[in-house]
Amino acid sequence: MQDKPVSSIEKKKRITLTSKEISELLAEAIVTVVLLLLLNIAVLVLLSTWIENSPSSKDAVWAFKNIFVDWLNSDIFLSGRTVILPLFFVIDVLIVFWRLLRRYHQMQLRHIISELHYIAEGHYDHRIPFELKGDLNKIISSINGLVDSTVAAIEDEREIEKSKDELITNVSHDIRTPLTSIIGYLGLIEDRQYRSNEDALSYAHIAYTKAKQMKLLVDDLFEYTRVRQPSVPVNYTSFDMVQLIEQLAIDFELEAQQQHTTITVHANPEHLLMEGDTEKLVRVFNNLLSNALKYGKGTQEIVMEVTGDDNEATIVVKNSGSSIPQEALDQLFDRFYRVDESRSQEISGTGLGLAIAQNIVTLHGGYIYAKSNDQWTSFIVHLPRKKVINRAVPKEPFV
Ligand code: ATP
Ligand code: MG
Repeated sequence: MQDKPVSSIEKKKRITLTSKEISELLAEAIVTVVLLLLLNIAVLVLLSTWIENSPSSKDAVWAFKNIFVDWLNSDIFLSGRTVILPLFFVIDVLIVFWRLLRRYHQMQLRHIISELHYIAEGHYDHRIPFELKGDLNKIISSINGLVDSTVAAIEDEREIEKSKDELITNVSHDIRTPLTSIIGYLGLIEDRQYRSNEDALSYAHIAYTKAKQMKLLVDDLFEYTRVRQPSVPVNYTSFDMVQLIEQLAIDFELEAQQQHTTITVHANPEHLLMEGDTEKLVRVFNNLLSNALKYGKGTQEIVMEVTGDDNEATIVVKNSGSSIPQEALDQLFDRFYRVDESRSQEISGTGLGLAIAQNIVTLHGGYIYAKSNDQWTSFIVHLPRKKVINRAVPKEPFV
């Protein structure tokens, strides 16, 4: 098949027959007309022979004709020729029309099949560009729909592959870096390349710290992949969101003091009963609080606000201090994403905390987003207060 224009938004058009197909139709018409003429003559000959040879049939035909003549009171039925010939003509025309139509439908089908072959050869951005009437058009729409969904599935598959590759690259990079240090420092101890016991102890300490960093990454990664599974159980219990947030604020109080900052909780109403997996939700707010403490440069205050209506609870965790650049805000929830500053400052972290938080919130049927201006950097979590039956499954590939 020749090259076709490759565009998925081709203008719908009618099938144009090739000159070969037009000649085919003409030949079909001629052959049919000739065959019908022969058939008509044969029928006429047989009929007249039969009538001539059988007087009773002759009478019957005349009687039959007379009934029609009386009924229609018309002259055209007066002779056998004027009755039979127009009738034959009409029948012949209908037969020719029917045969040509049938042949034309076969040609349309051939066009569809050849388009299908063209797509199957790998031209997935091509769609059957013409419109037909009736069932054939349904076939065309189904084929085009099928190609669309196949292309989408291929794209998804590619995304999954890409995402897996990225994950492996990121993980191997993040594991290799501390591992190289561990091997390096343990190697020094192994080869006794240290001057004093203090030196050896400090090398061991560095190796230990790096090993803990690796453990953190592996734990986060495990948690991340766990909450991405559509089958992950959400153990719903009834709890008071205000109480949960207040308890978290107490847990982080010491850390906040060390950073010369305060954590304040504003709740309205004073109690907000809802359903959710507290263990997972604590992880979300733990990460938001620890982020506020880790990254909120110059933070004087961390505020946690809990509000809600009949359907939804809204929890805001915000910190004052330097803001997150607008272009980074959209990517914060991507796994392994860390704002450049945090990387360069060597603040420990894997860049998985917010990705995990987002998955947990999604598992509960809620959503999370971030806002940042000169005054506040806020993370806003919306959660349904009641268990969501048809909860959203994370759309990204599972790894
Ligand atoms: P982990 O939470 O897995 O230990 P992490 O804290 O680096 O690692 P995330 O919690 O996903 O990962 O945060 C992603 C990045 O978003 C952080 O590295 C940081 O650059 C930025 N970020 C998050 N919260 C804040 C905040 N409150 N202020 C400024 N930057 C923030
Ligand atoms: Mg974090």
